[in-house]
Amino acid sequence: MSPENNLTDKIHQNSIPLVDNSFTFHCHAGVSCYTDCCRKLELYLYPYDIIRLKSKLKLDSAEFLRRYIRVAEGSHPFFPAIMLLMQDNKEHTCPFLAPDGCSVYKDRPSACRTYPLERAVEKSDVESGICAHYFLTRHNYCKGHHENKSFSVPQWERDQMLYEFNHQNDLWAEMDAFFATNPWSGEGAAGPKQQLAFMVCYNIDDFRVYCSQKRLVESFRIDKEQRRRIKRDDSALLEFGFNWLLYIFGERRTLVLR
Ligand code: SF4
Ligand code: SF4
Repeated sequence: MSPENNLTDKIHQNSIPLVDNSFTFHCHAGVSCYTDCCRKLELYLYPYDIIRLKSKLKLDSAEFLRRYIRVAEGSHPFFPAIMLLMQDNKEHTCPFLAPDGCSVYKDRPSACRTYPLERAVEKSDVESGICAHYFLTRHNYCKGHHENKSFSVPQWERDQMLYEFNHQNDLWAEMDAFFATNPWSGEGAAGPKQQLAFMVCYNIDDFRVYCSQKRLVESFRIDKEQRRRIKRDDSALLEFGFNWLLYIFGERRTLVLR
């Protein structure tokens, strides 16, 4: 698989490709391991995860970053990754773990909702873009594999409401593959260009303020309906931001000036 894509690099070593695109698994409050997996996690957050979590928690994205994340090494040296900070308690529990389960369940991160699968993407040669592959992860403590319920991949995607996450993560994967080409023109890590890109990707509320101050969206030919979406919807703004970064740092024709 092409190393062009950051999600590919996060596949665990003990994950295996899915046979027949189906698997047996059921996670529910009755399993003896319930919530055991919500501790001591190395949980990467992607830009859309942050949008969903900060909206659920009714926090500004800058405040969300301040409280809940740490900046980590990415899959290449030219852009950092973001990881969820576990709590500073004996068990290092996830900050969103409540006594009765996940307190952000409807907005839980991609990795949590995809588990026990892991999704990797690669860019195909043709213009059709991205090709997804699923792997099955097995942890000995996880009893969900012994339950009597089977899913195909499409059933799992539907059951876990993965479509929007997958769509947004595919856009992010393309973006990170672009960052891997070191488009910062010799500025090095954490130079002004990379900081701008960091804001677009991880701090959407600050990017909204930036857009408004610079009248950025208005500078490009974007149809009315899309402009309205960008105004009210953080994921539409993120998509615009990705296109803008490709336009200014990659000289790609992703946007057209007015
Ligand atoms: S976000 Fe929810 S499901 Fe994911 S680790 Fe935290 S508590 Fe568990
Ligand atoms: S069945 Fe697996 S995923 Fe579900 S709570 Fe247990 S360890 Fe976590």
